[in-house]
Amino acid sequence: MQLLDGKIASAAILQKIKSKTAAATVAGKRKPHLAAILIGNDGASETYVASKVKTCTEIGFDSTLIRFSNDIAEKELLQKIEALNLDPHIDGILVQLPLPKHIAEEKIIHAIAPHKDVDGFHPYNVGMMTSGAPTFIPATPYGILLMLEHYQIPTKGKHAVVIGRSHIVGTPMSILLSRKGYPGDCTVTLCHSATTNLKEIALQADILIAALGKTEFITADMVKPGAVIIDVGITRVEDSSKKSGFAIKGDVKFDEVAPIASAITPVPGGVGLMTIAGLMMNTWNAYQKHIAA
Ligand code: NAD
Repeated sequence: MQLLDGKIASAAILQKIKSKTAAATVAGKRKPHLAAILIGNDGASETYVASKVKTCTEIGFDSTLIRFSNDIAEKELLQKIEALNLDPHIDGILVQLPLPKHIAEEKIIHAIAPHKDVDGFHPYNVGMMTSGAPTFIPATPYGILLMLEHYQIPTKGKHAVVIGRSHIVGTPMSILLSRKGYPGDCTVTLCHSATTNLKEIALQADILIAALGKTEFITADMVKPGAVIIDVGITRVEDSSKKSGFAIKGDVKFDEVAPIASAITPVPGGVGLMTIAGLMMNTWNAYQKHIAA
């Protein structure tokens, strides 16, 4: 069994971006700049945004963290996004989800200028991705593609089963793996909460992508021997033995699935780190277009 180590794969990608950034700044160009908007103080969101900002610093990007309290008016948030859209020094804008209930997520995503939409959630970019055109790919599926590429996992002609159909993970993942070329050319089955024979379908997977958010849902009896397992799930579960008071669990029962898999991502230390690498790649690509414009 091969461990698909997010630390190793993301470090390799981030190192390349860091070198290119250093070369651009030596040549007199400004630095790439990511703006992150964080609303409220949800523990998980705080952690995700903090690691995105920290990674920016590590690879030589500028970053701006904009914080709002939970009761911010939708109008004020939209005004901030518009200001960032117009700011020539900002390359990427990300609004950390989920948003408070009184703010329409769709409206916020649609307000981000597509050329700064480094999360790849704007319908323009989703349409571009679906039609196979170069564009921003949602960071988590992008990170998974980068992981498959880093470890040279064969994908052509493989049956990929994706469990979970969210707009940020499962649905784009299914589209990307079915696209022409590498990593793609898979036959894809997309499963969700209304799928009736999930176990039978999962057992046919050469590549199984678990993105349903249910702790240790995938057990050994659902996995074909030799399958590649990508665990997207991140759930915080209480654990008094940890200083933080919680442990991070994936959607796959790692200890029993790993021995029969040919390759598997750990949680933590797998897809989560690749998501940040995907976001940084998108920000770098946005920057390149902006400085060339
Ligand atoms: P979501 O809640 O939006 O979607 C979950 C999907 O799973 C739904 O489409 C639902 O139909 C499906 N589902 C739920 N129960 C099911 C069942 N019993 N059988 C089959 N399908 C079922 O979740 P999401 O935002 O896509 O996130 C999924 C998981 O991935 C969560 O744990 C989340 O924290 C994690 N996540 C991780 C990263 C990362 O960087 N590693 C990024 C995004 C999300």
